[in-house]
Amino acid sequence: MTTSPRGVAILGSTGSIGTTALRVLQRHTDRFVVRALTAFSNAALLREQAEQFHPAFVGVVRNGGDPHAAWACGPSCLVDAARRDDVSIVLNAVVGAAGLDATLAAVRAGKRVALANKETLVMAGSLVLAACREGGGELVPVDSEHSAILQCLAGRTSGDVRRLVLTASGGPFRAWPSDRVAHATVADALHHPTWRMGRKITIDSATLANKALEVIEAHFLFDLDYDQIEVVVHPQSVVHSFVEFVDGSVLAQMGVPSMELPVLYALTHPERVPDTGVPPFDPVELSPLTFERVRSADFPALRLGVEAGRRGGAAPAVFNAANEQAVALFLEGRIPFGDIPRAIDAALAAHGGADGADRNALLAADAAARRHVKESFGC
Ligand code: NAD
Ligand code: MG
Repeated sequence: MTTSPRGVAILGSTGSIGTTALRVLQRHTDRFVVRALTAFSNAALLREQAEQFHPAFVGVVRNGGDPHAAWACGPSCLVDAARRDDVSIVLNAVVGAAGLDATLAAVRAGKRVALANKETLVMAGSLVLAACREGGGELVPVDSEHSAILQCLAGRTSGDVRRLVLTASGGPFRAWPSDRVAHATVADALHHPTWRMGRKITIDSATLANKALEVIEAHFLFDLDYDQIEVVVHPQSVVHSFVEFVDGSVLAQMGVPSMELPVLYALTHPERVPDTGVPPFDPVELSPLTFERVRSADFPALRLGVEAGRRGGAAPAVFNAANEQAVALFLEGRIPFGDIPRAIDAALAAHGGADGADRNALLAADAAARRHVKESFGC
């Protein structure tokens, strides 16, 4: 039986995940067709992509870079792309809280969201899950750790799981003494040992804020308590995560670091389709595989994020927003690396108890956290 290709919208098509996704989709035109593309401001690359994939909808958020007359412009283009009738899968590869409304709109419209934009689920996990129930939509993770867990679970539910162990590369400062870490430069922090990614997630990997976001993401995706989610450092990034089941059996998913497999799997789950995106797996070549405890005291963003997750309400949104703002200030050269966790801590102390009952409350907490970081650290 032949089925018609499923329509895909890629939000953030010009980024690291967005361009990876287009490489994957190019190999699977029998199964998927690109219906919509959006970007923040890179009109030149967006135009190239549009010429290659001929989507029915193209949107650009910031209208400064010579957009085509037929393109949709402004922040609402994300939601417009996510809601389209000819789209059944929305790959949300936007960075940061800006992706929230598109995720909500897509799952409310009954679509699959292939979710790279983890910040969405961190800031508004309960809201996003409620929107899935309301509209019949589903979330399938793109993050390599969560894709690994989904693949290990293979349909088993949280009741069968004792524990998840998320792997972390440890980032560029894994082996640096703590006093040196506090004064790391932007160039140092952007030099990730195993993954090539966008700038914001690369900094999050250096502070371990990324792993905190991923713990919260796992809590919501797999319906597990924070006590059941641990982190271990694995510098080679070959084991993408572990699931320990209630009988003591432990499964892991492995592969050479490449986002092509998790992107493809988020599109095809629960099916597997033949593909060539991941380089051949040679355990001898990849050995040794090593594991270390996290240096929690030297990378406090992990603890701060997990505490915010446990606290619930608006605290995860405040953690996320403070982190986004602090990372932006660090990338602009306005604060030292060591101020990123300090700024998060201060914002959580001031606003972590804010109301998080609905979208507007969460956006207010997000804005308050950003303001707090800018005013206290950004001058
Ligand atoms: P990136 O910076 O390379 O790309 C971000 C994309 O989002 C770009 O297309 C940009 O135009 C768009 N964008 C940025 N700000 C926007 C805004 N305000 N409104 C609308 N669009 C906007 O980032 P990335 O590395 O591709 O990461 C994207 C998301 O995927 C992040 O949430 C990240 O944590 C997650 N992720 C990335 C990787 C990776 O390997 N890069 C792995 C796992 C998860
Ligand atoms: Mg990850």
